[in-house]
Amino acid sequence: MNARIRPDLESIPAYSPGRSHPGAVKLASNESTPGPLPTVAKAIAEAAELANRYPDNMASELRAAVAEFHGVDVANVAVGCGSVALCQELVQITCAAPTDEVLFAWRSFEAYPIVTQVGNARAVQVPLTDGYAHDLDAMAAAVAEHTKLIFVCNPNNPTGTAYGRGELVRFLDSVPDHVLVVLDEAYYEYMRLPAEDHPDGVQIGRGRPNVLVLRTFSKAYGLAGLRVGYAVGDPEVITALLKVHIPFSVNRLAQAAAIASLEARHELLDRTGHVVAERDRMSAALRAAGYTVPPSEANFVWLPLGERSAEFGEASAAAGVLVRPYGTDGVRVTAGDPHENDLFLAFATDPAVVERFLG
Ligand SMILES: *Cc1c(COP(=O)(O)O)cnc(C)c1O
Repeated sequence: MNARIRPDLESIPAYSPGRSHPGAVKLASNESTPGPLPTVAKAIAEAAELANRYPDNMASELRAAVAEFHGVDVANVAVGCGSVALCQELVQITCAAPTDEVLFAWRSFEAYPIVTQVGNARAVQVPLTDGYAHDLDAMAAAVAEHTKLIFVCNPNNPTGTAYGRGELVRFLDSVPDHVLVVLDEAYYEYMRLPAEDHPDGVQIGRGRPNVLVLRTFSKAYGLAGLRVGYAVGDPEVITALLKVHIPFSVNRLAQAAAIASLEARHELLDRTGHVVAERDRMSAALRAAGYTVPPSEANFVWLPLGERSAEFGEASAAAGVLVRPYGTDGVRVTAGDPHENDLFLAFATDPAVVERFLG
């Protein structure tokens, strides 16, 4: 090949599909297990009949529905091809010079370093605390002249830890208001923190124009395959996001499904109760077997297995359950249906496996 591609992209791994394990249970991607509700499937089918027409590039109806849901103005809402596209667009609207910095905790969502590099900016990674949570004080202290954007993943993917309102407000108060702070709340619906400290980023962001909240339809709303998420923030930031938005990238089916899912939200959010119960059951069983499991507020649990993470992932796959190892940090296991989780627990709590990985 003769075309000259940016040499720095060589350091980003090319996508390699996971090894296939026919018939294996998949607890690797934090998806919802049930398929779309009948009303949502119907909205998708109806939208499909207009597939020859471009979608509404402004997603006006969906943005209006999201605005009404949160009690904000349509001018406060942008949509994206999954919230991961919004992450990339946020780097694009804040970072212009190679010295510009994007700050985030590590380990956190694997898209943050990639969108930062793709956006030609510099990643500043602040290690998690010993309790696998964001080190908010260290993050505040790391804000410097070139900091343009901060991602706060709450609850954190892949460790599951979450901060309440008080801690987040204290952090936001310590960040200069010219730095955009993104509260990535992809797992918001699974949080069960005390009501008085419940961290609803949209509420916290009121009166703070440098705070932007990301939510997604991929997790609790069960639309991972359709790719739609949204941002709630200051109208000037939202307008900038619209400028860099890839035209028509939130397709017609995704818009229709998201609107129908918001209408059916009570039924969909009821389901999170089952997921939370399974998450807590898994955490308890794994702790009882000797594993360290940080408190999770998401739809997955984190096993900090260090150097043994990859090997644990292989062994689990061989036992019929796909989980997600992260380098030499740990393994993330999604809470699936009870029989799927039972299969994983039978593997992980088997005395021989415990001896092999914790011994
Ligand atoms: C899953 C996830 C997202 C959203 O993904 P999309 O499917 O692109 O909406 C965003 N942030 C975090 C931390 C996630 O885990």
